[in-house]
Amino acid sequence: MSFDYDLFVIGGGSGGVRAARIAAGEYGARVGLAEESRMGGTCVIRGCVPKKLMIFAASGPGMAEEMRGYGWQGAATGTFSWEAFRQKLDAELVRLETIYTAGLEKAGVTIHKSRARLADHHTVELADGTRLTARHILIAVGGRPAKPGIPGEELGLISDDLFLMEELPRRALLVGGGFVACEFATILNGLGVGTVQVYRGDAVLRGFDREARDMATLQLSACGIDLRLRVNPTRLDRTATGIAVDFDDGSRDEFDAVFFATGRTPYTQGLGLENTGLRLTSSGAIEVDEWSQSPVPSIFAVGDVTDRVNLTPVAIREGHSFADTVFGAKPRKVRHDPVASAVYLRPHELGTIGLTEEEAAARGSVDVYAATFRPMQSMFAGSDAKVLMKLLVDPNDDRVLGCHIFGPSAGEMIQLAAIPITMGCTKADFDAAMAVHPTIAEELVTMRSPARRHRPDREAGEMEAGQAAE
Ligand code: NDP
Repeated sequence: MSFDYDLFVIGGGSGGVRAARIAAGEYGARVGLAEESRMGGTCVIRGCVPKKLMIFAASGPGMAEEMRGYGWQGAATGTFSWEAFRQKLDAELVRLETIYTAGLEKAGVTIHKSRARLADHHTVELADGTRLTARHILIAVGGRPAKPGIPGEELGLISDDLFLMEELPRRALLVGGGFVACEFATILNGLGVGTVQVYRGDAVLRGFDREARDMATLQLSACGIDLRLRVNPTRLDRTATGIAVDFDDGSRDEFDAVFFATGRTPYTQGLGLENTGLRLTSSGAIEVDEWSQSPVPSIFAVGDVTDRVNLTPVAIREGHSFADTVFGAKPRKVRHDPVASAVYLRPHELGTIGLTEEEAAARGSVDVYAATFRPMQSMFAGSDAKVLMKLLVDPNDDRVLGCHIFGPSAGEMIQLAAIPITMGCTKADFDAAMAVHPTIAEELVTMRSPARRHRPDREAGEMEAGQAAE
């Protein structure tokens, strides 16, 4: 059977673009790609890239405050022009979108500016009804923000909407305690918006190292966000002056804008799954194996739609590995563990890789090397903001199991720490590296003795003894 394409990619985000470009450009495959919106996907158009630029913008007041501590008289940020920032941001996104499109075209990929759905195991259908056949189909449609399912939630916005707002709200509510909620609360607060964040748990960023979570939780409040823990909205109502929100602790408050950052779900709606033998996991993701191959041999999926590790670099690696495997005769699987990541808060970020202290202690014995201190730069300026540097080490073989950094530029630091840790290095390898002085990161190579040791057998024994004593 002859096909229109060797590969048809649905979705022009990080994973889809990489797979298409490698399959066509490096391996000469005939590739078509459909994208219904702007080329670049969530990360480039309404995620990582604009978000990080906004984080930089939101750093202004904190930087000016710090400089006042260094003797700069009257150093101030002035007023922030959302309009000026938006214009620059729009131009930057157009620039990036153009680069993505040009890269695909140069590789010989045919771009279809259209939504596409699966018609059968080798056929996709575009929005105008055109049907195209392909030997292989790659689904790379990503995820979409999910709202919590409460009355009036249609009055609430999602993170995508912030990038499109004509003007900033005066007072905003952020719902959630994950990556997006914490980063967007940091942005809005830094840009001068009165920001309330509500989270149903007792510390933000569930799933991260507890000590680091506690520091992030403290920082959000310390930098001026009205963070309310163990609180969740129950309904939204429009009023003459804004949006009234009822909370489950009986309180009620009013905002100009409400943003839901309550997670994301795989974007499989309307994808034509019913025309295929594809299966969904319990989280609604497309089920694939370690080669990103679905139970239908001609259909593969990468990125957030598979809900494995929902990060751009992972989607890119999955897309590239798929192309190498299927079109380059270079079989390559993606290692999903360990994967470093960062949460971009201000003034301190959270960078993390590997096991948390809680996970490491549940797994077996672990030595915890941890230092908490006030870094030179902000301490001099009069801030008592603290940094955390933590290494988790298996005492049996000295291997570093995890690293957690809460501090300025922790995202940059964790990227470098990720190299030896991914290689399987030991604490002795860290110790062998000479310190770079004076830096915050030197703490990673100068921590000599554990702050504490977890020994599960002993802890269990102690618990049993404690229970017997009661
Ligand atoms: P997360 O899953 O990280 O967080 C969702 C938050 O919403 C959690 O605090 C969760 O609470 C809360 N929540 C979920 N359902 C409800 C509900 N019904 N009512 C109230 N609260 C609720 O999702 P995000 O949207 O923050 O981020 C999505 C993904 O995007 C992340 O997994 C991440 O991979 C990626 N991302 C990465 C970034 C980075 O690398 N810097 C930045 C932004 C996003 P609970 O914890 O109690 O479940």
